[in-house]
Amino acid sequence: MTTSGPVLRIAYLYPDLMNLYADRGNVTCLERRCAWRGVTPLVQRLEWDDRLTGPADLYVIGGGQDRQQQLASQGLTRRNADQLLSSLGDGAAMLAVCGGYQLMAHRYRAADGSELAGLGVFDAETVHPGSDVPRCIGNVVCDWNGSRLVGFENHGGRTYLGSNSIPLARVVRGHGNNSEDGTEGAVVGSAIGTYLHGSVLPKNPHLADHIIRLALARGAPDFELAPLDDAAEWAAHRAAVRAAGLR
Ligand code: GLN
Repeated sequence: MTTSGPVLRIAYLYPDLMNLYADRGNVTCLERRCAWRGVTPLVQRLEWDDRLTGPADLYVIGGGQDRQQQLASQGLTRRNADQLLSSLGDGAAMLAVCGGYQLMAHRYRAADGSELAGLGVFDAETVHPGSDVPRCIGNVVCDWNGSRLVGFENHGGRTYLGSNSIPLARVVRGHGNNSEDGTEGAVVGSAIGTYLHGSVLPKNPHLADHIIRLALARGAPDFELAPLDDAAEWAAHRAAVRAAGLR
């Protein structure tokens, strides 16, 4: 790793609570893909009762079960909402997966009818229709920016986008946001929400680099990410496409 390039500050929200299906691999992937290009990643890992120590360039949060989501919701709304929302308003980037994505929208109504407050980054809300309704589970392939994203989803909540969110991608195989309207995830500014676990970034290197570019856009807009040998990453991507029954 060289130190002549830019620094990228990553705030990793609640890795102990919000880490379903290896979501922590997203942060490892971002760290490596930065370091291989001479970008120095500085990661703050937040526990439930921690406060953000300052602005970050990129906020990352994974998925979690309803109980863990409840604690994460408290940590976010009570201790970190102001800093996080002001950074995003200044153009910071975000990757929020599944339960983390739900918490970054307006609210999540859980299977038992209780409501968790979200931060309202995404104009969207999520309703869990109840534990007797089948969950959205399986391999996902979607169309994104003229290419594909792959991942694995497992959620009870159905997310409905408001008019100020645009979908991240269009579902080709799988359920996506709600199993009804063909949308997957959401984008607002430089913030991305998605239901894709996997972890999603290692097998979607184009999305990983897109997020790094978003995160560098303010501090080092002219920095060019050198190409990497992504043969293994694309082999994993193709295997996920096949696992979803597509070619
Ligand atoms: N608890 C949420 C749901 O089931 C999120 C699950 C997850 O993050 N995988 O909808």
